[in-house]
Amino acid sequence: MDFEYAEGVKDRALAQIAVVGAGTMGSSIALTFAQNGHSVLLKETSEDFLQKGYANIERLLAGRRRKGLSEEESLAIRERISGTIDYENFADVELVIEAASENIEVKKGIFEALDEWCNLDCILASNTSSLSITQLGSFTRRADKVLGMHFFNPAHIMKLVEVVPGLETSHETVLYALNLAASIGKLAVRVEECASFLVNRLLGRYMNESLYVLTSGLAGVEEIDQAVVDYVMPIGPLALRDMNGADIGLSVARYNWQEYGPRFAVPQLLEVMVESGVLGQKTGAGFYAYDGDKKRSGVNLQLTELIEKVARFEAPAKGKMQVENLFLPMINEAFLALQERICQPEDLDSALKAGLGMRKGPLELASDMGLKQCLQQMEENFQIYGERFRPAPLLKRFVWANRNSVF
Ligand code: NAD
Repeated sequence: MDFEYAEGVKDRALAQIAVVGAGTMGSSIALTFAQNGHSVLLKETSEDFLQKGYANIERLLAGRRRKGLSEEESLAIRERISGTIDYENFADVELVIEAASENIEVKKGIFEALDEWCNLDCILASNTSSLSITQLGSFTRRADKVLGMHFFNPAHIMKLVEVVPGLETSHETVLYALNLAASIGKLAVRVEECASFLVNRLLGRYMNESLYVLTSGLAGVEEIDQAVVDYVMPIGPLALRDMNGADIGLSVARYNWQEYGPRFAVPQLLEVMVESGVLGQKTGAGFYAYDGDKKRSGVNLQLTELIEKVARFEAPAKGKMQVENLFLPMINEAFLALQERICQPEDLDSALKAGLGMRKGPLELASDMGLKQCLQQMEENFQIYGERFRPAPLLKRFVWANRNSVF
């Protein structure tokens, strides 16, 4: 197997990696490193959980074999992954990626243990989606060597890794993570610490907006999904919500609202769906109805009742959905993120494309629309719907500078 080393990783033996947690993410992160030649130590809390992780890795490898991976390569990859339920062999690893349950107490215990067992040079990364990297660093005596390495699901396929320094993380640690992620074929983007980081923060605004469009009567379920797929997305927001589950969606939406305030107001429909147990594929019905094999059998007709319940409290919108309007909150959030210097402007679109599979990123969409037109539509919507569309000051400044596109 050939490897392309990014600068700084050249001439070094392949680092031994440890992954803590062998659930959905941990097992695919372990596979990602193993298929790039690294030996991986995979840690779980019990033999049973470890076996579940192995079974998941076997399933992912079987998928890769169906796409052309040979039996020999598959076996070699699998042999690079060894399991453990304690930290005894952690002294030899160069990098740990923690992918355990999203709970601060669980992660505190893990980071304290890692700090005890790992060599002082070892870098400790977390795959957390929402917890503070700075806080995780504070559980150790090496906050300069703690950072976020946020992979996307499934990690062995999705290209993006958000590399997130905490307040105390050193420049060397960030460079190490950027180089290592690049050396395993990922697009590694430095993202400053903020709630949901870059991609999920922007995604959250768009996911919420799709629900507002639905409940305001501007478009139906299939119409929304089809329009965004035709526009730039690989999958509609409502089909995606059904895959991930409305309960997960609600906790993410509540978290974003708590961190960012009114522009992230939680759509009532999401609350009502969770209250009613209409969670998506896992309960057999969400926006769509599903059969036993999770195959879609049409729109969920019972949802009409829930939409009516919610719509009573919302001002009905006039006219038809304009698909660009559905992306305005995401575009606005992109300008807010740039204003906060969350990432380099040139990284923003590529991160969104790699993380979400968009064919065009939000800045490109805004530039296609023309920034002046984009601002005008934002202002019109702000008059009608309020906070969700309050134009970002940076967008206004681009227009005041007579710039009609971002780049
Ligand atoms: P999961 O529930 O599938 O797996 C978590 C695993 O961690 C479980 O198998 C559990 O037994 C194990 N675990 C708990 N405590 C442990 C300990 N002390 N030592 C070793 N293992 C321990 O969760 P997941 O979806 O894989 O998420 C893991 C992390 O990745 C979370 O922080 C989550 O926010 C983040 N994340 C998830 C996704 C996603 O799409 N699922 C995407 C990006 C990031």
